[in-house]
Amino acid sequence: KPDRTQSRLWSERANSVILGGVNSPSRSFKSVGGGPPVVMKRGSGSRFIDVDGNTYIDYLAAYGPLVLGHAHPEVMAAIRSATEDGILYGTPTPWEVEFAEALRAAVPDLERIRFVNSGTEAVMTTVRVARGVTGRNKIIKFEGCYHGHSDLMLVAAGSGPSSMGVPDSAGVTESTAREVITVPYNDIPALEQALDRFGDDVAAVLVEPIVGNFGIVPPASESYLADVIDRTHRAGALVIFDEVITAFRFHYGTAAQMYNVHPDLFALGKIIGGGLPIGAYGGRQDIMERVAPLGPVYQAGTMAGNPLSMRAGIACLQVLRQPGIYERMDRLGEQLAAGILEAAAAVSEPVTLNRVGGAFTLFFGAHTVRNYEDAKRTDGQRFAQFFHALLDRGISIAPSKYEAWFVSAAHTEEDIAITLTAVEKSFKALQDIPR
Ligand code: PMP
Repeated sequence: KPDRTQSRLWSERANSVILGGVNSPSRSFKSVGGGPPVVMKRGSGSRFIDVDGNTYIDYLAAYGPLVLGHAHPEVMAAIRSATEDGILYGTPTPWEVEFAEALRAAVPDLERIRFVNSGTEAVMTTVRVARGVTGRNKIIKFEGCYHGHSDLMLVAAGSGPSSMGVPDSAGVTESTAREVITVPYNDIPALEQALDRFGDDVAAVLVEPIVGNFGIVPPASESYLADVIDRTHRAGALVIFDEVITAFRFHYGTAAQMYNVHPDLFALGKIIGGGLPIGAYGGRQDIMERVAPLGPVYQAGTMAGNPLSMRAGIACLQVLRQPGIYERMDRLGEQLAAGILEAAAAVSEPVTLNRVGGAFTLFFGAHTVRNYEDAKRTDGQRFAQFFHALLDRGISIAPSKYEAWFVSAAHTEEDIAITLTAVEKSFKALQDIPR
């Protein structure tokens, strides 16, 4: 077991100044049995190093943004050069234009774009825009999806599949919760039922086209997303794709393009910032023109479009345009997934693995995972044991059974081989722990 004394000491200090010791609750080890999280201090390529000097192969990828791995030289050079010019002007800059042009060249449906600073802001604003444009109040979203921490997005499903929501956080009002209807993903009849009941009052249906937040869960049929859009438009509501995780994850563009569908609005974040704080939203020009200064829907930001994030984003997209980069992540993801399944089978550990390209989730349970109910039924305790077994062998994944492993462009065949050895040992170690 690696020595993690320094991590523990930093955690203790953290706990007495930073609430809960972490700046985002998912970073705590609460859902994997507690204890101090590992405190990292440096990253390079596919690895990062903790404050005790232990090295880990990283599949956390900072919850998604690090598709190029840590400290990619071209992204680092762009940031370094950006800092030499001063870092903030509060005026338009060339880089936000170039970046927006690059995004629209990749995703023509982004007819007009606005940059913000987080995925939370991006989603929150698309919802405001949809309400402003339609003059309607309610939002339909899908159970188990995460869309950032704005009030409206912290609403859980009510008592029935198409009833109004209930607050999913203290501080979210009942009246806010009543504006949100939550339906199961991959279930067109449930969506239809909600639209039948509330249709005239629904401003937008908000969807993660390929779910990333209760594990990687793709649409169960080729036509699912087209059907979501069709039903929603028939009810006179807008479709918002939350592509904060998915954009530029699986190919040089959006999940919408993979399924050849056209939502009205997109929320973006994570990868597009090359590791710096970012969010963006955009879509149909006639809808976006309702945003200030052209229209009555307000949105602003002191740091919005800041040159550092813009220039890191441009550099990241430039690297991602290199031929073969996504094919390689897909191939390594496939190798890793196949090896994991083989190792699980060798010890008769019942698992299921959902993979899209370089991203996958290993669920502890033999059943298919198509929606949040399925994901909830997987074994969190077994996951926690596996998580720690891997961590002790130098493999870092997210401390939650609902998260993905992200293979980045920095991972090598050697990384995969080392990881699979650790995976085999971890599965074997699990067999000594009672279920
Ligand atoms: N939408 C999705 C689909 C996300 O996964 C996340 C973050 N995990 C967000 C929105 C919120 O993004 P941020 O953390 O940048 O606010």
